[in-house]
Amino acid sequence: MITVEKISKFYGNLKALDAVSFQIGEGEIFGLLGPNGAGKTTTVKILTTLTNPDEGRCLIDGMDVVLNSHQIKSIIAVVPQENNLERELTVYENLLIYGMLHKVKDLRRKISDILNSLDISHKKNSLVNSLSGGLQRRLLLARALLSNPKVLFLDEPSIGLDAHIRRQLWQIIRSIKSEGKTVFLTTHYIEEAEALCDRVGILSHGKLIALGTPEELKREVGEFVVEYLDKEGRSTSSICQKKEEAYEIAKSKNDRVTIRKTNLEDVFVKLTGERILEKDKG
Ligand code: ATP
Repeated sequence: MITVEKISKFYGNLKALDAVSFQIGEGEIFGLLGPNGAGKTTTVKILTTLTNPDEGRCLIDGMDVVLNSHQIKSIIAVVPQENNLERELTVYENLLIYGMLHKVKDLRRKISDILNSLDISHKKNSLVNSLSGGLQRRLLLARALLSNPKVLFLDEPSIGLDAHIRRQLWQIIRSIKSEGKTVFLTTHYIEEAEALCDRVGILSHGKLIALGTPEELKREVGEFVVEYLDKEGRSTSSICQKKEEAYEIAKSKNDRVTIRKTNLEDVFVKLTGERILEKDKG
């Protein structure tokens, strides 16, 4: 559904994206993971026709995003990082205006269906201002779904939400996938990528440094992590391919040793030497 071929983007002397390539299949949830400034939003901006790549090309449903931007806009929808709802209007009015602008047919019935499926119909006449952050995020999703997009882009969908609300949102995103839609999301929450994504790409300083299912990436770097305190009392860890290897390391350390399964943050640390992904504290 999406093909990204060696795209690069420059902001002055800064190479925000450096020959990034990947493909996303129809009906897949794909997550682009990386720390602040890695190039995630720039990638989304290119795919959603807000900016052009300086090199390379992207296709969505076989169409070039630069050459066919008008057609691309009709098959995608975007949930931006910032909340751009009309806060002084009601839930229903927000959907009505968006639907009219996007010339959605049979609009009133569609609004009613989407409010029901996202479980917000009881808030239909509430002002956006009066909704919790989680409900506002759900409304942003509802609005994006109104035009029945083939591909949905979610930029940091659960930023600022507490763990419980975040998990509710993941359920909704899974149900969107089950309708056959392709979902592209950016995140710097490790748990979000692990829980939700069929495949992930990891960006670091504009380069795609890993691509695969979360399980594949963890297998590649080693499935077990030994955590221990070094001689100076600093927290240290080693990644091992085999459990036996982890036990051997654990035996040679002091008694404050833990062995656990590898997560995507460990993959990132192993590949970049940096520890900058934000962990889900929920
Ligand atoms: P975040 O998680 O903070 O949203 P990100 O991974 O989405 O980060 P981008 O927003 O794509 O990263 O930014 C990539 C790099 O490009 C950063 O160094 C950023 O400062 C720079 N950048 C992004 N937009 C512009 C712009 N319009 N002008 C100049 N530099 C920019």
